[in-house]
Amino acid sequence: MNFLFYSFLFIFGICWGSFANVLIDRIQAGKSIQGRSKCDYCGYVLNWFDNIPIISFLAIKGRCRKCNKKLSWQYPWVEFLTGLIFVLTFWLIQKNQIFQANSFSFETFLVLIYYFLIIYILWVIFVWDLKYMIIPDFLILIGLIGTFIFKIYLTFNSGFILNLENPLISALLGGIIISGFFGFLFYVSRGKWIGGGDVKIGFWLGVIVGFQMTYFFILFSYVLGAIVAIILLLFFKQKMKSQIPFGPFLIISAYVIIFNKEIILKIWNNLLV
Ligand SMILES: [Zn+2]
Repeated sequence: MNFLFYSFLFIFGICWGSFANVLIDRIQAGKSIQGRSKCDYCGYVLNWFDNIPIISFLAIKGRCRKCNKKLSWQYPWVEFLTGLIFVLTFWLIQKNQIFQANSFSFETFLVLIYYFLIIYILWVIFVWDLKYMIIPDFLILIGLIGTFIFKIYLTFNSGFILNLENPLISALLGGIIISGFFGFLFYVSRGKWIGGGDVKIGFWLGVIVGFQMTYFFILFSYVLGAIVAIILLLFFKQKMKSQIPFGPFLIISAYVIIFNKEIILKIWNNLLV
């Protein structure tokens, strides 16, 4: 059952990965997301058998059927990784007992939808920022609305107590602190140290991780960014001046915190004692 379920989830994720590719490239190019896919070079309209994720790409050896030009490896990679992320996310949700397979109800179903929605949007932003160095506002907005609804639900579910543990208050403070911090960096550096998109997504991610985790969120993002920057400078002869998008580090940092909050706080408290 488990293996079958995870295989199904993996394929389901691959299909969503295929949609992510369409969403990113077409919206960025100002095209409609409806209609059939075409070759970027010659305009060849893809058949249904050209549209099977990963398999079609491998079958045509990554080249267009008509003009034989090389197609981007982004397509199969994003599809494959989306499949993996879906599997990993479900596994983490179960491990954290956010959702238990034997207590399935409408409520747990909604919670599950929420987590998959925000993780999927974050992943689309991850690829988008990596490729085009842009974080689209509409995705942040959809994610932010979803997260606020979820936090309101959590707040009323936990009996609305007015303190910092209140999910809604914690979320709001988290968003204000992180976007405030990034906004300050943006202002003093005139956009050199951090992008405007990072300030905006910082608000959403702050709302997700909450007030208690803001410190760890910023710490993880910068440590991760520094490690990757050093690797790029040392091994890939990347120039100091070349820009690296910051969004992906923020997203990885948030992902780690979402599913490891208790462990992080426990380690931190042990360090303080
Ligand atoms: Zn072509």
